Amino acid sequence: MEGPSIHLAAEQLRPFIGRRVRTVTGNSRIGIERFRGKTVRDIFAWGKHLVFQFDGFALRVHFMLWGTFAATVKGRSVTGDYRRSGAPRLALTFASGEITIWSASLKFIESARARDGYDFAVDVLSDAWQPRRALRQLRDHADEEIADVLLDQSIFAGVGNIIKNEVLFRTRTHPATRVRRLSSARRKAIVDDARTFSFRFLELRRKFALRKNLEIYGRSVCPACAGRVTRKVHGRRHRRSFFCTACQKTRRARRRKTPAGPDYHRPP
Ligand SMILES: [Zn+2]
Repeated sequence: MEGPSIHLAAEQLRPFIGRRVRTVTGNSRIGIERFRGKTVRDIFAWGKHLVFQFDGFALRVHFMLWGTFAATVKGRSVTGDYRRSGAPRLALTFASGEITIWSASLKFIESARARDGYDFAVDVLSDAWQPRRALRQLRDHADEEIADVLLDQSIFAGVGNIIKNEVLFRTRTHPATRVRRLSSARRKAIVDDARTFSFRFLELRRKFALRKNLEIYGRSVCPACAGRVTRKVHGRRHRRSFFCTACQKTRRARRRKTPAGPDYHRPP
């Protein structure tokens, strides 16, 4: 799950703030008995982390690649259409409903205010997000492929593989381009779109309309030129990219063709 899905989860689970955990089950080995009888004081998202604050400690849930969750409030499902499988890692029941988490990494944070331990300036969905800082940090990764750097959670917390691919398509950037070969205008466009598209992702997720509105991720035909979409695992992170070799060029190839300013498009 990517940042916007986690932010949406924090919103959906808000009815449990102030509620006391009645029963605890699950196959996690971190000592989940600790939650029994405890009251949820806060639920918040940071990047791909979902954090449940209790008195004196917090639970950090990291959904990794396959993690998912579901919740019901007063018998009504409040969560999305996530796929789920196998035995739950953790299930918490309350008088008003329940939260179930699958395939996620759980960890305790020994803090009465776990929120203070997070740097929200790097969270692309946070009001505290600092695009200038991301631009500065890009300079320290000049020899890396932009697709790898976009997944760096210390720079772009919340960006996952879907957002990475869409942002690179929307800014017409080839995913294997080294950061040093990107113009400053292109870098700024990428940094800005990491946030713009993350909010679009959030709105689409809210309407259960994400998949059908993705332009390049999971596609086989380019929506801009009707050419064939290339799928390739590459870079030091070995993650999959979807891209159009005709539309997404490196800076040099693009310069010869389009001398004008950035022509990447924004969401409607
Ligand atoms: Zn194309």
